[in-house]
Amino acid sequence: MKSIAIVLAAGQGKRMHSKVQKQFLSLKGKPILYYSLTCFQNSPEIQEIILVTGAESVEYCRKEIVQNYDFSKVKKIIPGGRERYDSVFEGLMACENCDYVYIHDGARPFVTEEILVRAEEAVKKYGGCVVGMPSKDTVKIADENQLIAQTPKRSLVWTVQTPQVFSYDLIRKAYEKARQGSMEAVTDDAMVAEAYGNIRIPLIEGSYENIKITTPEDLLIAERILEKAEILTNMEEVEKK
Ligand code: C5P
Repeated sequence: MKSIAIVLAAGQGKRMHSKVQKQFLSLKGKPILYYSLTCFQNSPEIQEIILVTGAESVEYCRKEIVQNYDFSKVKKIIPGGRERYDSVFEGLMACENCDYVYIHDGARPFVTEEILVRAEEAVKKYGGCVVGMPSKDTVKIADENQLIAQTPKRSLVWTVQTPQVFSYDLIRKAYEKARQGSMEAVTDDAMVAEAYGNIRIPLIEGSYENIKITTPEDLLIAERILEKAEILTNMEEVEKK
């Protein structure tokens, strides 16, 4: 059985207002992308990693990230496309002999092995799953005039994260079908699997720390999350002594 992680690190990340693409920005001295690659590299659930980045960043990724940190599971570094779904499709096309695929935003540094274990269990049972968390906020659906149209019951609202994990054949075929029409509204992979894969997809628990770095405030939050992890590791070491 072979599982591949497709790690997405293409796109401009305009909301960060930075010259450096957000997935390469430094977080405590290492590129943001380093952290999720470390998780996939160290997790036995994953056998291979395909890194998708901008055509202009392929060499940078090869030298400064993959070789520098010795991510031996990264078998391919390929150029992505204009939109996220184009990059996902390129990643899917690059997979060989794959049973399960973990599609992950490189801009989410704090995916953990526990999340991957839960995802593996679910994908084997259901053919797909999406990592997310119950919404802490009440969510409103607005109409075109920004007037409230609906208030979904909060206990049923989840915000979704990545990885989104699927049987490879199912998601590849679903993407191939979806690409025959407009994909403009597609913001995650589950939408494609739901529409064209003919499955019901469970939401499984991610973590409130599995944030996506989108705007400058997120970088500050990410630093604090890392500091918390460092403090916990130090405490464990002191307790062992
Ligand atoms: O822009 P957004 O925050 O939604 O991007 C989510 C993830 O998708 C990021 O990790 C980004 O690098 C990736 N992406 C991509 N190709 C694009 C656009 C975004 O790989 N064309």
